Amino acid sequence: MAHLPDPSNVKKQLIQKYPTKVARKRSQQIVINAVAEDKTVPEILANVRTTPGIITQRGCTYAGCKGVVLGPTRDIVNITHGPIGCGFYSWLTRRNQTRPEGPEDHNFMTYCFSTDMQDDQIIFGGEKKLRQAIQEAYDLFHPKAIAVFATCPVGLIGDDIHAVCREMKEKLGINVFGFSCEGYKGVSQSAGHHIANNQLFKHVIGRDDTVDPHPFKINMLGEYNIGGDAFVIEDILERCGIKLVATFSGNSTVGKFENAHTADLNCVMCHRSINYVADMIEKKYGVPWIKVNFIGAQSTAKSLRKIAVYFDNPELTARVEKVIEEETKAVEAVRKEVKSRCEGKLAMLFVGGSRAHHYQDLFREIGMKTIAAGYEFAHRDDYEGRRVLPTIQVDADSRNIEELTVEPDPEKYRPRRTPEQLKALNEKGLEVKGYEGMMPQMDNQTLVIDDISQYETEKLLEIYKPAIFCAGIKEKFGVQKFGIPCLQLHSYDYGGPFAGFKGAINFYKTVDRMINTQLWSYIKAPWQVNGKPLLEAELVNS
Ligand code: SF4
Repeated sequence: MAHLPDPSNVKKQLIQKYPTKVARKRSQQIVINAVAEDKTVPEILANVRTTPGIITQRGCTYAGCKGVVLGPTRDIVNITHGPIGCGFYSWLTRRNQTRPEGPEDHNFMTYCFSTDMQDDQIIFGGEKKLRQAIQEAYDLFHPKAIAVFATCPVGLIGDDIHAVCREMKEKLGINVFGFSCEGYKGVSQSAGHHIANNQLFKHVIGRDDTVDPHPFKINMLGEYNIGGDAFVIEDILERCGIKLVATFSGNSTVGKFENAHTADLNCVMCHRSINYVADMIEKKYGVPWIKVNFIGAQSTAKSLRKIAVYFDNPELTARVEKVIEEETKAVEAVRKEVKSRCEGKLAMLFVGGSRAHHYQDLFREIGMKTIAAGYEFAHRDDYEGRRVLPTIQVDADSRNIEELTVEPDPEKYRPRRTPEQLKALNEKGLEVKGYEGMMPQMDNQTLVIDDISQYETEKLLEIYKPAIFCAGIKEKFGVQKFGIPCLQLHSYDYGGPFAGFKGAINFYKTVDRMINTQLWSYIKAPWQVNGKPLLEAELVNS
């Protein structure tokens, strides 16, 4: 690995142009990683508002609620109540895929439903239009459920979407429920995930008590089937003999959500977007949860083994080991070949609420080092681990989000494991209800940056010249003008799947192609062609 710049100097360079107050705040959000023996790491400032004027990667609360959590469910008609501008960006921009079981099964994911509010509805109220939209969607599609999402203008004018939903639920006899997920409700899309999960928990989960007699039943939480990831995971689980009751929300249906409380274990992939559901299902129905990661071949094997340890059945363990052995051969052949061309190169990842963590495993497998990483919408526990949960200050923005009081269900609560069994599992090394966060797994002296700005991104590219940068569509073309390939990890561009063993092979090959092509050396940014900047500006300190 080439000699790398001192991260303290890099940090100084990232913040030196900011006004004092902004620099002070950013300084707490840019951390040089240092992992202690007990895996504790330095504190990072996260889940705080972006300073106005800074170009952020973040999405709004509505985007998190509609786009991330509810978007991948195929048989709910999702109506955005608001101007069409808000609805456009949540229309399949994440490349969620789904596979209806038969031609009769609904799939509304290719549609974008909006009330398309106009000026007069902003002035006189839009409830009438919303009522009409729900009726129209019902008449056209006869869905099992309709969800309504409030955008900023709806919150500002005070439309009561929940009253309209209750009224239409009674009239139509199907599940109609609303989400007060106005874009401004939280500091990022993270608030939208929380709002989405609360409503799913209140209105959907637990409505169907049919129990499948299968002995190894799990839910996969926080897996959104980008580029077909869920299909790969479903295939692996089936071959291992594990029954998937529901995935929240990749390749899912409202019926599967309704039945999710009958599973015996919840496996959490994206901790940030869904840890609330895992906690609430545990409290109400007695289903424990574990953190898993199906991104990376070694992580996939580790996660399968964790599930096998939980169920503690020799037959299941043998099947899991057999699948791992079968898949590893193909993975290893490609991995070794790709590693010979990628070893020692640098990667940076600034994505989502777990992706910046999980994909580091894939880079590690081909010998690449993640020199800088961070999340758009994480909270401290996603970086530092759940051990910091009691010390996180609840600020006004977080108080904005409804906190549900959950009690054990008097009839349906059935603890799947006794406290003694859970203790024994922990002693066996299976951390139940635990997540150690991203930082303890990163190297010391790497940079961890929360809510990175466009300016800081460009500085990092200039300083480190990484072989690859992983982000989203908003960052992609700016990064590529530096002659550095940018892999979109929110939507995988046109590629994927990247989950499981097959996905790992896809990822190795994709990264190899991206970083080892000559193409990047031919690219000249416009300012390099003319020899001078196209636009110059100065920061105003006030
Ligand atoms: S911030 Fe508000 S106006 Fe903007 S897209 Fe989100 S909901 Fe719409």
